[in-house]
Amino acid sequence: MAGETLLKSNIGTLKGVGKVRVELFRKLGIDTVEDLLYHFPRRYEDRGNIMKIAEIVPEESCSVLGTVTYPPVNIRSQRGVRLTRSLVKDGTGTLEIVWFNQPYITSKLALGKQYIFYGKAKKTSRMQMINPTIIQLEDMDKECVLVPVYPTVAGLTQAVIRQTIRQALDMLKDIEDPLPESVLRKYRLADFGESIRHVHYPKDMESLEKARRRCVFQELLEFQLALLSMRKQDNEAAGIMFNKSTLTDSFIKSLPFELTDAQHRVFNEIYTDMTLPKTMNRLVQGDVGSGKTVVAVLAMLVAAESGYQSAMMAPTEILAQQHFNTVSRLLEGFPFRVALLTGSTTAKNAKEILSGLANGDIHIIIGTHALIEERVQYHNLGLVITDEQHRFGVKQRALLSRKGNNPDMLVMTATPIPRTLAMILYGDLDISIIDEMPPGRIKVKTYVVTEDYRERIDRFILKEVGEGRQVYIICPLVEDSEMIDAYSAVKTAEEAAAKFKDCRVGIIHGKMKPAEKEEVMKSFAEGSIDILVSTTVVEVGVDVPNASLMVVENAERFGLAQLHQLRGRVGRGKNQSYCILFNQGSSEVSKERLEIMTKSTDGFYISEQDLKLRGPGEFFGTRQHGLPELKIANLYTDMNILKEAQECSERIYRYGYLEKEEYSRLKDRVYHFYNLNFGGLL
Ligand code: ADP
Ligand code: MG
Repeated sequence: MAGETLLKSNIGTLKGVGKVRVELFRKLGIDTVEDLLYHFPRRYEDRGNIMKIAEIVPEESCSVLGTVTYPPVNIRSQRGVRLTRSLVKDGTGTLEIVWFNQPYITSKLALGKQYIFYGKAKKTSRMQMINPTIIQLEDMDKECVLVPVYPTVAGLTQAVIRQTIRQALDMLKDIEDPLPESVLRKYRLADFGESIRHVHYPKDMESLEKARRRCVFQELLEFQLALLSMRKQDNEAAGIMFNKSTLTDSFIKSLPFELTDAQHRVFNEIYTDMTLPKTMNRLVQGDVGSGKTVVAVLAMLVAAESGYQSAMMAPTEILAQQHFNTVSRLLEGFPFRVALLTGSTTAKNAKEILSGLANGDIHIIIGTHALIEERVQYHNLGLVITDEQHRFGVKQRALLSRKGNNPDMLVMTATPIPRTLAMILYGDLDISIIDEMPPGRIKVKTYVVTEDYRERIDRFILKEVGEGRQVYIICPLVEDSEMIDAYSAVKTAEEAAAKFKDCRVGIIHGKMKPAEKEEVMKSFAEGSIDILVSTTVVEVGVDVPNASLMVVENAERFGLAQLHQLRGRVGRGKNQSYCILFNQGSSEVSKERLEIMTKSTDGFYISEQDLKLRGPGEFFGTRQHGLPELKIANLYTDMNILKEAQECSERIYRYGYLEKEEYSRLKDRVYHFYNLNFGGLL
């Protein structure tokens, strides 16, 4: 089949891809063979790294070549889990291998025979490998290489994805390059066909690097071109010129605290923008607890005074509710009506709010994604604010501002993005930084501990609660899992209720209904829960000043930037606060990483260190920043490529090259990218 036709055909035309798999692939955003080629591996397993059993490093993946010296047997553990166990020797030591829920494994291993086992080892009383992949010796050449691991969904195994991609690559003889010759030459990019093959099936590290650079460049180029075309649409109309405010001074005087210099400065920058006839596009960056909310309230006050409506969108119901409480309290005594609209607003209330928004009775609306629903119409929306921008997409931000007639826009985030990167990503935004904490904050004392400290920490929890304060216990999982050996909120809450009999224990996690979550958060904020066991749902913005202790289970499983956000939930009041990080991992790196948390409270520093230690790929997912989902590029580590792609995109855009014949394939890709990420906006 001709390359182009095959690329555009549905993946259902491939062997082994029936109706069910077509649906599964669709969940991954894959419809055509071309989509499949652009489904890049998330990482690679280096199965060629064969280690002696004696040299195995716990928690790191490796291959072991060994002889089965104890026949695999199926057993049932005390907790009812089905296990298969066997022993393997290689002359330097013995390795125990264990599989969960795969009893058929017994038929795959013969006593006395040699195999390669690939997996992650763990040190218990002896060295143990859980759920390893078995590789037959005769397949060593084929299998002991860099094996791609793809993003997937339940029901679609790695093996199926690998086979399907391999099949497509085998069928495609030459694939036409979406980039024109001149771009390839100027940026020294490898040929597309070769790159795409090597990205999926690298020969070695070197060929992978080269191929990856090419694919990253292309993706970032598509991204930048899509951004450029979106900005063009947004920048055409003139902005609102708000009146000089007479209320902000008295508002600032009425606050129970003095604004910091940084808050003053940032508000002045906003105020200047608002009172000029241009459209404000401003990003306010400020570390957790730096006091962004009150700055937002000031801006909304300016808008309301000029007779315009403001909308403030938060990523979670909890946060929206909290902002609503704060804003209502701060604006008490001002003649403006504030309302809350979220997914769990009752139909009756929603109806009333919608009409209040449409006829202008409501001046300030706080809410979640509900604010951008089709049915929400504004009378004269003049200011839109998104809080914790990293949780939203570029698209949601744009949808909200399109509810008004070119309203001013304020974007707030606590995620420390290096300034240079922010300029490239949010090229259209001016940046204000709140680089000062309100005075009198006592630094949170942070300790990294191991399981040996359990009793002491339990006593510490009791002591804090005894003194009338509140505690968070953070767990990585919602429920116990057979596959992942980590603390879950459900189990931990049960145990805490049994252990701390006199304390009121609550639980909150992402699987609960919004109304339930809100109820729990409300009780915690009111002080009728002493110990709140939670997953990372409390990560963003929640403000309960009486909480003075946070205990994080399996802290090694979290990113440092995330731990920093979590830790920001305590230390918000007058009392000395503490953050206890349980390190249940055994690797040196995780210990070193966690120690960083004890040394610094500076979000920028912490994320830089995290990036250094964890290296590429594992830092933040791009999704956390509300950016389009990139399939291969990493916006942090691929900074140099990003700059080149930006330069290239600007030239293409400026000279209208996309209209030229040799760019037609790239133009298709840009539209594709645009629809996928900013869909519905054209
Ligand atoms: P964030 O920047 O993380 O969104 P918030 O706006 O939630 O921070 O503010 C955190 C806490 O600090 C709130 O309880 C707020 O009332 C308080 N706060 C804000 N500004 C000041 C200030 N200048 N002085 C004292 N407390 C302040
Ligand atoms: Mg906030």
